[in-house]
Amino acid sequence: MSYLSQTDPDIADFLNAELTRQQDVLELIPSENIVSRAVLEALGSVATNKYSEGYPGKRYYGGNQEIDKIESLAIERAKQLFGAEHVNVQALSGAPANIAVYFALLKAGDTVLGMDLSHGGHLTHGHPVTAMAKIFNFVRYKTDESGAVDMDHLRSMTLEHKPKIVLAGFSAYSRQLDYEAFKRIADEVGAITMMDMAHIAGLIAGKQLPNPVPIFDIVTTTTHKTLRGPRGGMILCKEKFAKAIDKSIFPGLQGGPHENVIAAKAVAFREALEPEFAQYAKQIIVNAQIMCDELQKNGFHIMFGGTQNHLMLVDVFSSKGVTGHTAETILDNAGITLNKNMIPNDPRPPLDPSGIRLGTPAITTRGMKEDEMRWIAQAITKVLSAPEDASLHLSIREEVKNLARKYPIYPELTYA
Ligand SMILES: *Cc1c(COP(=O)(O)O)cnc(C)c1O
Repeated sequence: MSYLSQTDPDIADFLNAELTRQQDVLELIPSENIVSRAVLEALGSVATNKYSEGYPGKRYYGGNQEIDKIESLAIERAKQLFGAEHVNVQALSGAPANIAVYFALLKAGDTVLGMDLSHGGHLTHGHPVTAMAKIFNFVRYKTDESGAVDMDHLRSMTLEHKPKIVLAGFSAYSRQLDYEAFKRIADEVGAITMMDMAHIAGLIAGKQLPNPVPIFDIVTTTTHKTLRGPRGGMILCKEKFAKAIDKSIFPGLQGGPHENVIAAKAVAFREALEPEFAQYAKQIIVNAQIMCDELQKNGFHIMFGGTQNHLMLVDVFSSKGVTGHTAETILDNAGITLNKNMIPNDPRPPLDPSGIRLGTPAITTRGMKEDEMRWIAQAITKVLSAPEDASLHLSIREEVKNLARKYPIYPELTYA
């Protein structure tokens, strides 16, 4: 019997059920992944007991000899993985990492040029609902008809608004950005360049996509998406910005760092430095492209003209007359997990938009390859072509479960 089930059978039950859910579904949410047992162990380790405000060698508490080694190793590995001059691994997650950068570099009212949410950007890039949008002035660029970021438009916006930060990066965009062009345009007005690689960090670490770190002044990321580490954030920057970034994280924004998470980040970085991780990253993209082709063949309209990374945005409303919300719900009933998403210039409301977003990082971690991608695309097509057929959805759910069980996630793990 586990300690957990003895102390708290309720939470043990819920965790067991969650483990079964993760085991039995096909997880296509592109921001999710399945970490290794080693990462899970570090996350649940004794490092959670320690207070270590400050940075390695400069702490506000005693007893940090081993914690300093852990955090220093996490930093060294991140530097090696991305060729960074300076790394802060204390950011609690992607959103706080971005907020810390804004507070490090901007004064209230300063302008940031970022990508529009409905064109693939992230809430933390200045969406009006965020607290940051009340403090700073965000202006947003969009994609053009072809699905590319229009760099001429981006340049004219930069010249017009003279932003302090030109921000690249996205959560629902499937094409490679021209990093050098961002840099050239920002340089024209002396703006700081920032890239939020939260979604694609693992594809960059695995050397399958170009690395923005040498080009941009500041790069932020999460560690739990394609990078396959614990839920957390990280900031990589040029030495010139190191002091301002570190001060902005602590004491500016956060208190004691979560050293158990930092230990798990270090483990994930070590895994990402192995040659197998490059194979993994490559397979993620191959899988996404196969899935994308297959969906296209089945009559789905893929936004941005296809995919060059791990995700795709599908306009299910114009393709099959099914809304994003309905598609998310009925695919969930069939054991296929993904999320509704706005498409560029979406005529529909945010809570029931035209699109769905899906991606391959988690199913690739499980070992699925081209044949499974084709099968999954067919299953998605069947469900969305018969949105009212609940018994079909349930029979596909059984087939999904059979497929999923061939690719166990944590064979011996139990909270019972
Ligand atoms: C996921 C994501 C974030 C936010 O990360 P959280 O860990 O959810 O706070 C920030 N920026 C981008 C581009 C993301 O995709």
